[in-house]
Amino acid sequence: MHSSIVYRIGDSLYINLTNRCTNDCEFCIRRNSDGVGGERLWLDEEPTVEQVIAELEKAPTAHLKEVVFCGFGEPMMRLEEVKAIAKWLKEHGMYVRMNTNGHGNLIHGRNVVPELAGLVDCMSISLNASNAATYDALCHPIYGRQAFKAVLAFARECKRHIPRVVLSIVKVPGVSIWGCRRIAAKLKAEFRLRHYDSHI
Ligand code: SF4
Repeated sequence: MHSSIVYRIGDSLYINLTNRCTNDCEFCIRRNSDGVGGERLWLDEEPTVEQVIAELEKAPTAHLKEVVFCGFGEPMMRLEEVKAIAKWLKEHGMYVRMNTNGHGNLIHGRNVVPELAGLVDCMSISLNASNAATYDALCHPIYGRQAFKAVLAFARECKRHIPRVVLSIVKVPGVSIWGCRRIAAKLKAEFRLRHYDSHI
């Protein structure tokens, strides 16, 4: 079975750019599955911008509401490709969402959020916990304790440049939904409780 680069679920089209990630979340579906919804998402090779656009051109667009960068990994790992594909999508009038673990600025060692202004309409950030200790225990970030603080800083930055910002968590024991809601409210971001999955 070949790997899916672009696949549709409901009204959304998903782009699978990478399997690499800077977290290793306890609840990540990558731990016990190689895909979702019948799509194999383990990539043998990361697709090029041209390959993704070729797949997008073939994809069914009836009733399509959005195109989402998510994947079976962290799309910020491939920032330049995200920017090039998002530019193409915006030129074609698409609503663009990015699902991210919020490590983008750590990954690239600079504030990358302004580079996504006008390209991404909605940034959906996996908050996952209400404090650094819980985040570390649950997500095992390669950056250690600084990761949680960096996710919050990333979300704050997104509020300045991206029209819609959503903070999400998975309902797992030990995570304070109330505490996470409070953080989202403080940042004036939306809050979403999502199903057990990858950060999709
Ligand atoms: S859930 Fe998302 S952030 Fe966590 S390991 Fe999986 S792909 Fe990475």
